[in-house]
Amino acid sequence: MRIHTRFAPSPTGRLHLGHAYAAVQAHDFARGNGGIFTLRIEDIDGTRSRHDHVAAILADLDWLGLAWDEPPTFQSARLPLYQEALDRLRGMGLLYPCFCTRADIAASLSAPHGPDGQLYPGTCRDLADPDLSRPHSWRLDMARAVTRVGPLTWHDAHAGEVAADPQRHGDVILARKDAPASYHLAVTVDDAAQGITHVVRGADLFAATHVHRLLQALLDLPTPEYRHHALLAGPDGTRLAKRHGAPTLESLRLAGEDGRTLSDKLRKGEVPIGFARIGA
Ligand code: GLU
Repeated sequence: MRIHTRFAPSPTGRLHLGHAYAAVQAHDFARGNGGIFTLRIEDIDGTRSRHDHVAAILADLDWLGLAWDEPPTFQSARLPLYQEALDRLRGMGLLYPCFCTRADIAASLSAPHGPDGQLYPGTCRDLADPDLSRPHSWRLDMARAVTRVGPLTWHDAHAGEVAADPQRHGDVILARKDAPASYHLAVTVDDAAQGITHVVRGADLFAATHVHRLLQALLDLPTPEYRHHALLAGPDGTRLAKRHGAPTLESLRLAGEDGRTLSDKLRKGEVPIGFARIGA
């Protein structure tokens, strides 16, 4: 089996040091094992994805000295694949349309919390006659889905054998009101379709893997190996994120910093002054 990894940024902002670290990890794991490294642009969110972010991502990776082996793929060009997967799940009776707004869910005091915030309280789960002409998302009936496939496990290089626990996410959205797929569905379909053998990504996505493992079982897709790596924290000790104003790779690139020196430092686990690694 030839190892195949991917770096899968969402072009909803400029990349920061945390992305550089993730890209180096995925790239080096493929290179170190004679494998293939792929770039996948996760642009299903048509309202937030921008062409100028895509251009900056390509320039940043080039600056870091990270070359990908195949032409980059764009999720926006793969919507029929996600539609097919949705149709299959709907045919199994595992999806239901949901008309709730974020405000409706926030107002529901009974909703328990999961890894991504409030869990969906199930308001639309058993609607007798849903009006599909109204804007709606499609949710997975989690209890039914879990019953259908039984207990599942997946393997992480650092955490070892993990018992899948998708129920902690509740009835996740698989197709959004404003996008024909959700992150969970698109990433699972694409990792399988592209023959990704090792998913190398940040530990912030560890919990999402429970859902991905379930979708793999429902859709008869193979389960890759997972390598959830450490995250970078900024001077305030919290994980870097676009919204916290972490310095962008573009700003370092335009300031004349050397990208290859930066990626070499990151691969040795050295992070710039003021930053830290958190986790494995
Ligand atoms: N597109 C996701 C992000 O930018 C990462 C997807 C993944 O690696 O599974 O956070």
